[in-house]
Amino acid sequence: AKPVVAVVGRPNVGKSTLFNRIAGKRISIVEDEPGVTRDRIYTEVEWLDWKFTLIDTGGIEPESQELIPAQMRRQAELAMETADVIVFMVDGRDGLTSSDREVASMLRKSHKPIVLTLNKVDNPGQGPSEHFYEFYELGLGEPIEISSALALGIGDLLDEVVEHF
Ligand code: GDP
Ligand code: MG
Repeated sequence: AKPVVAVVGRPNVGKSTLFNRIAGKRISIVEDEPGVTRDRIYTEVEWLDWKFTLIDTGGIEPESQELIPAQMRRQAELAMETADVIVFMVDGRDGLTSSDREVASMLRKSHKPIVLTLNKVDNPGQGPSEHFYEFYELGLGEPIEISSALALGIGDLLDEVVEHF
């Protein structure tokens, strides 16, 4: 069967922006628009000789502040159940947060390959970004720096993802 890749991370790190970037169109809802439906969270992707299904776990339900812990748990569970590779997204502007640590500790239990992805690195090529080294604490290796908004580093990310198939 076709591999499944799930994008997981706390709200607002840029999961839907990455998903739409890879999908090549605007499927998943970015920011706080209502009316999120499940069919918007899946897209079929071709990269090199690979075909896989990409899931934006944050699009399962509208992201609301008070539901964050339960919501992140459900998203992590969906990823751990269905994904062959998990793209765990963190925010290069905010740096490491306690929510990132919580999601990481849930994901680690799955023993599935996790690709730590540092988004919002909009000015690459100037050495590691400001918060880069903080994320080593998660024990998930070196983050891959990308900018979903500016479409930078996405090819390197996908190269890393397909290596785990
Ligand atoms: P999600 O909640 O994780 O799905 O995050 P969204 O994709 O909805 O993005 C949250 C906010 O971050 C939006 O305002 C995006 O435009 C912004 N954003 C996403 N990716 C980037 C990026 O690479 N750079 C910057 N500067 N902003 C980004
Ligand atoms: Mg989203």
